[in-house]
Amino acid sequence: MPAISLSALRSRRFPVGVLSLAFIALGAVTLGMLAFRDRLDKGHVALIYLLVVLGASARGGRSVGLPVSVTAFLLFNWLFLAPYYTLVIADPLDWLVLLTFLLTSVVAAELLDRQRRQAEAARARAGELDRLATLGAETLDAARAEQALSAIGDVIRQTVGVDRCELFVWERDRGELRRIAVSDAEGAAEPTRADTTELLKYVASKAVRLTEREDGTVHVAEASMDEEPSVDQTGRAFAIALSARGETVGALRVSGRRAFALSSDQWRVLTALAYYAALAMYRLRLEHAEETTEALRRADRLKDALLASVSHDLRTPLTTIKGIAHEIVSEGHARAGVIEEEADRLSKLVDGLLEMSQLDAGAVSVNPEFNTVDDLVGAALQRAETVLRGHPIETRIADDEMIVGRFDFSHALRIVVNLLENAAKYSPPDAPITLTAERRNGRVELAVSDRGPGVPPSERERIFEPFYRLPGGRPDVRGAGLGLSIARRLALVQGGDVTATDRDGGGSVFVLSLPAVEPPPE
Ligand code: ADP
Repeated sequence: MPAISLSALRSRRFPVGVLSLAFIALGAVTLGMLAFRDRLDKGHVALIYLLVVLGASARGGRSVGLPVSVTAFLLFNWLFLAPYYTLVIADPLDWLVLLTFLLTSVVAAELLDRQRRQAEAARARAGELDRLATLGAETLDAARAEQALSAIGDVIRQTVGVDRCELFVWERDRGELRRIAVSDAEGAAEPTRADTTELLKYVASKAVRLTEREDGTVHVAEASMDEEPSVDQTGRAFAIALSARGETVGALRVSGRRAFALSSDQWRVLTALAYYAALAMYRLRLEHAEETTEALRRADRLKDALLASVSHDLRTPLTTIKGIAHEIVSEGHARAGVIEEEADRLSKLVDGLLEMSQLDAGAVSVNPEFNTVDDLVGAALQRAETVLRGHPIETRIADDEMIVGRFDFSHALRIVVNLLENAAKYSPPDAPITLTAERRNGRVELAVSDRGPGVPPSERERIFEPFYRLPGGRPDVRGAGLGLSIARRLALVQGGDVTATDRDGGGSVFVLSLPAVEPPPE
C-alpha cells in the first residue's frame, strides 16, 4: 500500500490572524523600545526583535515569520540605527549588526517553519494511519460486506475531501455494475451523467482510470490502483477500477459539484482507501458464492427427494404394464412386445434413477469382503452371456497366484457386467472383447477392452456424468446414460474407481480398480 501523506490535503489558508497579532506585537515592542531608545544598546534591540520574529514563526510559519523579520529589519534600521528616520547607516559596523539580525531571524523563521511542517505531517500521518486501522477493523468486523462498504464510502469522501463518493460492485455473472454504496456531502445534488454506468463499466473491465472533465469530455489513463498520476488533472469526477487478489471487483467514483483537482497526495490516499473497498467487495463476492452454493445444495437435496419418491411411485405401475403386455404377447399379439420392451426400458431407467439418488444420499450398503478375481470374472461372464453372444471373448488373468481383493462382490459384479454390456453394445456385432485382470500397485485391475469407436480424450471424464451420452452415436443403440455414472459411484464407495482410456489399434479400455489383498509371504 502506498505511503500516505495528508499534509497537502488540508488546504492551507493564509494565517491573517497570526500575522496581525505579530504586527501588533512588533508595534508594541517598537513603541516600548522607542521610549527608552537612549538607554538601549543595538544588541538589546536586535534580541527583542528576534524574540518577536521567533514567536511569529512558531505560530504562523514561514508566511508570517518572513514578513515580520523584514519589517523588524526595516524598523531596526529606521528607528534605532543612527542617523534615525532614514535608511542610511553611518557606522559600517552597524551594517554588520543589521545583516546579522536579518540573517538570524530569517534562518530561525525557516527552521521553525520546517519543524512545524514536520510535526504537522507526522500528526496527519498518525491520524490517517489511525483511520486506516479503524477502517480495516470495520471492514473485517461489519456483519455484512455492504455495511463495511458504506462506511468506507463515507471515510473516502471525508478524507479525500470530495462532495460525493460512489462504490459500484462488478457482478460477473450478469456483466453488470451495481451501485452498492454512496456517500454524499450535505446538500450535494451533483448531476450524474446519463452514461455514467457505461463509463464505469469501461473503467472496471479495462482497469483504467478516468477523469470526467468540466466540458463534458472524458479522459482515460492506463493505471493500476497503486500508480500515481503523472499530472494533476482537474475534473468534475474521477473513477478508478477496484481490484483485489488479482480480480477486478468493482469501480469507485468521486465527484464534486464544481470541478476540482486531485493532488498526487489525494490520489495516494484515494487508492489506499479504495483498496479497502476492493477487499470488502471481494468479501461480498465470497458471501454471494456461499449463498449460491447453499441454495444449490438445497435444490439438490430437493431433487434427490423428488427423484426417490417419483421413481418409487413409478415402479409398481411399470411392473403391472410389463406383466399385462407379456400376457398379451403370449396370447399371440406380437405387437404388444413393443410395450413390454418399452416398459422394460423405462423400469431400467427408473431403477437407475433410484439407485443414483440412493448412492448420492449415501444410502447404499457396502460389504467389502475378501473375494477372488477368478470368481468375479466367472460370475460376470455368466451374467453377461446373452449380450456377449456373437462376440469372441478372450479372458486373461495374470499371475499364477490367485488374485484376491477386498470388495463388495455384488457391486463389483454389477460394474464388470455393465462394462461388458457396453463393450458389446458399442462395438460392431462380431468384434472381439477382452477381459483381463491383474494386480498392480496394490490394486486389483479388471480391464474390459473392445474394438468399438473408442472415446475421444476430451469426453473420457464426461461419460461418467449422469445422462451424458457421446454425440453422434448410433441411433439404434439406446441407453439413458446412467450406467457408467452408477458404475463409478459403486466403485468409489468401496475405495475403487472406473476409468476409460483408448486402446492401441482402436477401441477403448475401461478399467475397474479395487483394493487388492497382498498374498502372504512365502
Ligand atoms: P448408456 O450406455 O446407457 O448410454 P453409460 O453411462 O453406460 O450409458 O455410457 C455413457 C456413454 O459413454 C454412452 O452413451 C456411450 O456414448 C459411451 N460409452 C460407454 N461405453 C462405451 C464403449 N465401450 N465404447 C464407446 N463408447 C462408450
